[in-house]
Amino acid sequence: MREDLLNELEAEYAARRAEDERIEEARAAEIREKFPVIQQLKQQRQDLVRSRIMTLGTGKVPAGNEGSLPEQVEALNRKIREELKKAGLPEDYLAPVYQCALCKDTGYTGTPVKEPCSCLKAAYQQKLAERIGLAGGETETFENFSLEMIPDEREEGQRFSQRDISRIARNHCEKWADSYPNNEYHTITLSGESGLGKTFLMHAMARRLIERGFSVLTISAYQFLQTARKSFFENDNGLDELINVPILMMDDLGSEPLMKNVTIEALYVLINERQNRGLSTVISTNLDMNEFTKRYTERIGSRIDNPRHSLVIVLKGKDLRKAGGGRK
Ligand SMILES: [Zn+2]
Repeated sequence: MREDLLNELEAEYAARRAEDERIEEARAAEIREKFPVIQQLKQQRQDLVRSRIMTLGTGKVPAGNEGSLPEQVEALNRKIREELKKAGLPEDYLAPVYQCALCKDTGYTGTPVKEPCSCLKAAYQQKLAERIGLAGGETETFENFSLEMIPDEREEGQRFSQRDISRIARNHCEKWADSYPNNEYHTITLSGESGLGKTFLMHAMARRLIERGFSVLTISAYQFLQTARKSFFENDNGLDELINVPILMMDDLGSEPLMKNVTIEALYVLINERQNRGLSTVISTNLDMNEFTKRYTERIGSRIDNPRHSLVIVLKGKDLRKAGGGRK
């Protein structure tokens, strides 16, 4: 887990606990001021527990305190709940307040070995998704990649309908995200015209990987070019970072400007180094593989379109946004 995000979460959980306590105190004050009967029962319960603790180990049982302590406390609790109900308040109005019953808003469960609570893990993933630009993309999941919206007619001479092609693409992407890091292919390219769901599938892969606890870096091709330019001319080490992240996703390759002595050189270094290190890269592009090789040269094309270590997933059909499919 990333330390900067954990620090933020720690502060948020501390604020949450402070808010819990504030609510508890406000409720206790309300009872003190407005409901003397309930206040009296609370006092009785406190006295009972205190007197039993005082006589612990002496063998003496205080008069009127016969019977087991838990039973007597529970009898008072029952009375308190009844009185709260009569007062029109919830039965658990005086119970400890927290949003997560598992960790009581500490973010951790278990003693003596503490483990992150499921609520903390979920909050962490949410934060990470926001940080890498998937915020608002909660809908971009494999489950939401609805095939029903995609035309199922087969044109003459075609083996597959657009829906078939989309289903095959989705299944490849989902399998890839589920089998990482033991993937057959380290480099995945989603190729096809705009509006066929490439970015959607890429975000669904990122989301699945994040849910599985891996960190993913997603950038646009334009951001990649800016990073490369800075590394070449301003001595910035951003390109090294891109080369070293375990999972890199680059959206919309082919849409960025072709900068002389930058675009091709940087892309070659990036792809080649990442492949040599066995790191996973996912690319989306509007270009088909012929256009891709023409634009980025044979030596890059042969690394992307190579059945030995790379998989090219080709999407075909009509723009789903125009067809009312509503995806990028
Ligand atoms: Zn929790």
